[in-house]
Amino acid sequence: MYLVPHVAGCIRLSGKSELPHAHILVWFIDKIRPEEIDSIISAEIPDPSTDQLLFDIVTTNMIHGPCGTLNSSSPCMADGKCTKNFPKDFTNDTVTNVDGYPIYRRRNPENGGQSFIKNIINTDIDIDNRWVVPYSPLLSKTYNAHINVEFCSSVKSIKYICKYVHKGSDMAVF
Ligand SMILES: [Zn+2]
Repeated sequence: MYLVPHVAGCIRLSGKSELPHAHILVWFIDKIRPEEIDSIISAEIPDPSTDQLLFDIVTTNMIHGPCGTLNSSSPCMADGKCTKNFPKDFTNDTVTNVDGYPIYRRRNPENGGQSFIKNIINTDIDIDNRWVVPYSPLLSKTYNAHINVEFCSSVKSIKYICKYVHKGSDMAVF
């Protein structure tokens, strides 16, 4: 799901080789200001001591891979690299990007970021914020499902997303 600061929407249903899913553009009447992004979109593991439910939903649905050297047979891997550029870098603050998506805050465990242990192919792996797919706490709690949410405000990113949303014969627009 992509959040755009204006009004309208379109939806694309899944491609042939993927699980059924939809790409949805949500255009806002009131612009989302850069300082509001952290309150709408998160790319961090929630603190289970303050929100156990959200922690459970995010750790179950919104963790990418892991891939790379931890799991080279992950479906996202091509030519020895993750096609979705995970793991992302740690960063203490969300940085807005003129020509694309923001770089979302992903705190290191040393700076207050959460982590948890995930068992992958009989190996315990320490998962931290570098592996979190950006999500909306509100939508995640409402639907308890994999819902990737991205903020896109630049003309370039909206053009790209509209092209992406409209490709494929099984798309619908409303
Ligand atoms: Zn990957």
